[in-house]
Formats: sequence, structure tokens, C-alpha cells
Amino acid sequence: MAGLVKIRCEGGRGPRFASPARYTMMAETTQPQPREITRAGEHDVKIIWQDGHESVYPARALRLACPCAGCVDEMTGVVRLIDTSISHDVHPVKIDLVGRYAISITWSDSHRTGIYSFDLLRKLCSCCQGQGARDVGRGQ
Ligand SMILES: [Zn+2]
Ligand SMILES: [Zn+2]
Repeated sequence: MAGLVKIRCEGGRGPRFASPARYTMMAETTQPQPREITRAGEHDVKIIWQDGHESVYPARALRLACPCAGCVDEMTGVVRLIDTSISHDVHPVKIDLVGRYAISITWSDSHRTGIYSFDLLRKLCSCCQGQGARDVGRGQ
């Protein structure tokens, strides 16, 4: 399954899949929300956002951007991952929704502790960089 995101917004009628209180709380955040999470090409991840914007994330770049404590030092925020230690054909084997704010990705190298918030994903979008996340310098 490619993990299809469907988020309903039907005014005062609470959705069936969550308590109204929780839903309201999440709906008030300014987090960008994906309409659909799918694949692009063989391994890449594509997100279509609620505002119609489409972001494509090359699999390996997404793996290198893993924000988990094993890949980024929690105290300093310094990235521990070494570029060359990640296989060139690394790709997501499973994508799970985490609440309404993030996805977790299980990778082909069996790494699976990274939680990618939608906020982070929107910042990682290559065409949106510069609108907030200038420090994602990654030379090709
Ligand atoms: Zn990680
Ligand atoms: Zn973009």
C-alpha cells in the first residue's frame, strides 16, 4: 500500500476517526497538510499538499535528512549521518502516518526511527527551500 492520506474537513461535524477535541486541536495548527502521499518514479516520495503544491523527494536525500536521534545529535542538532555510509539505492519500503502531523518511514537499510513532520517535509521541498529553510545546503 502506498499510504494514501485523506483528511476530511467537514465543518462542525466531527470526523469518525478521531475524537472531536483532538481533531480541533490539530486543525488549528499551522502545519502544512498533505492531501496525498504517493511515490514518484521507482523510489522517490511525492507529496501533494492541501494547497495543491506538489513536492518530490529523492529517496536518498530524504534518508539523509532523517531527523531521528540516531542521525542528528539531539543536543547540538549536528547531523551524524555520513553521506557515504548511505547506500545509493536506499529507498522507503514502508510509509506510515503518525497522527496528523508526520509520517514515519521504514527504509531499505532497515532504519525506521525517523519521524518526518509535515512541517519538515514542506521545508525540505527543493522548490520551496529559501522560504524558511535556507540552511539545507546540499551540493550535488
Ligand atoms: Zn535516522
Ligand atoms: Zn515546493
